[in-house]
Amino acid sequence: MADLADLKFCQELPKIELHAHLNGSLSDETLNKLLRRGPTNNSYASTIIGKGERRTMQEGFEMFRILHEIVVSPEIVVEVTKDVITDFALDQVKYLELRSTPRNVLSSGMTKRSYMEAVLTAIQRYREENEDRCRIDVRYLPSIDRSKSVEEAHETVKLAEEFSLSTNGNLVVGVDFSGNPHANDGADYIPPMMQARRANLHLAVHMAEVEGKKEETKKLLELLPDRIGHGTFISNEPGVRDVVLKKRIPLEVCVTSNIKTCTVPEDHTKHHFTWWRQEHQHPCIVGTDDKGIFATSLSNEYSIAAGALGLSRRETFNWSKEAIDHVFADIDTKSRLRQTWDDYWKSNLEVDT
Ligand SMILES: [Zn+2]
Repeated sequence: MADLADLKFCQELPKIELHAHLNGSLSDETLNKLLRRGPTNNSYASTIIGKGERRTMQEGFEMFRILHEIVVSPEIVVEVTKDVITDFALDQVKYLELRSTPRNVLSSGMTKRSYMEAVLTAIQRYREENEDRCRIDVRYLPSIDRSKSVEEAHETVKLAEEFSLSTNGNLVVGVDFSGNPHANDGADYIPPMMQARRANLHLAVHMAEVEGKKEETKKLLELLPDRIGHGTFISNEPGVRDVVLKKRIPLEVCVTSNIKTCTVPEDHTKHHFTWWRQEHQHPCIVGTDDKGIFATSLSNEYSIAAGALGLSRRETFNWSKEAIDHVFADIDTKSRLRQTWDDYWKSNLEVDT
């Protein structure tokens, strides 16, 4: 019988996280720490945070509101970003792309620019403080929020371009398109995304997260994004599905998030990624989306996804290594990551096979 991947195996496995929203990734510990300090110190917020994986969908959305009240200054952005990087590093994530919408907060004087600077400061500071331990490469994808205006999207892309240049393309490597999937017409945001393309930034685009978005998805696919966030309803639509298959555009798959937001059945084996993998060996990358909100971890998501496909340890290892092909970082980083996976294989798995 095949040696199936289990949670413990997935926890020890080196992993790549490509779909993590910064604010939604804050752990309960980080949130409680900030709540104890700040003006939002109320028992209602603590109760919702304390519910962990028993949070309802509505309470999940409430979490975002609480987060917006807590993460209000560049100092807090630095602190929470470092905490999130630490969480992922402890979960054996070796490469992480964090996405987040820069925002202005009048009360603290935080601007989009200082927000982005804070995220980048946290990445650099984490690296300096942890040089010898727990190596993790981190990149930042500024997010275009589709519930905000197209002008704001242009502003975000302009800043992304500027920071990409000032960090020699080492830290800001792309742009994310996300936000409430029901808000506005996604096609309106194609011009700012094309602006990002011209600036040599990669594109990770949330699409077809909810039903009935065929026309929008068709237009967004014309951009030929480098990766698709969720793409939950693409497999039902032959017109758009064939483009994704033909161009082999990777899908970022977040099973727990999809279940908790009620866009897929609870049965993991019926999640859309099983169709893409089993029928077409299509590139799919396992991610968490919002590990704090949905009370999950990347190890947990791997355990669920590998379990749904009945993968052996070797197959699960190969799947996590395959994700390296789809990171937005440069070739040197990819080679270094492949070396990390090969070393892990030699010291942990070679003897088993
Ligand atoms: Zn997402």
